[in-house]
Amino acid sequence: MSKGLLHHIELYVSDIKKTVDFWSWFLEELGYIPFQEWESGRSWKLGDTYIVFVQTEDRFLDVPYHRCRVGLNHLAFHANSRQHVDEMTIKLKEKGISILYPKKHPFAGGDNHYTIYFEDPDRIKVELVAPE
Ligand SMILES: [Zn+2]
Repeated sequence: MSKGLLHHIELYVSDIKKTVDFWSWFLEELGYIPFQEWESGRSWKLGDTYIVFVQTEDRFLDVPYHRCRVGLNHLAFHANSRQHVDEMTIKLKEKGISILYPKKHPFAGGDNHYTIYFEDPDRIKVELVAPE
C-alpha cells in the first residue's frame, strides 16, 4: 500500500532543457525511469512516486524562484549508503555541479546526517541522504 506516500511532485522551471539535462542524469542514477514526455514537460518515476518538471510560461518568469522565500526549499532523496553519497559527490563534481556548504560536507545537515547538498539549474536545493 502506498497510502500517504507522495504520489508525485510537480515543479515549474525556468528552462526545461537545462532542467532535463540536470535531472535526467541525477534521477536515472537513483533508479528513476523516464515516465512522461510532452512539449513543455518531462517526468521520471520510481516505485509509486513520480517527479514532474514543467516549463514555466514566459509571462510568469519575471519573478524567479528563490528557495529562501515562501515555498519549496529543497528536495531530499535517499542514498543507499555513505559510499553512495561519496560516489555521487565525485560524479557531481566531475559534472561541474557545485556542492553547497563545502566546509561542512558531508555533515552539513548535522552530525548524524551524512548528506550532500547541491543546486539544480533554478537553484532548487537537492539533498542526497545516507541511511543512518
Ligand atoms: Zn533536508
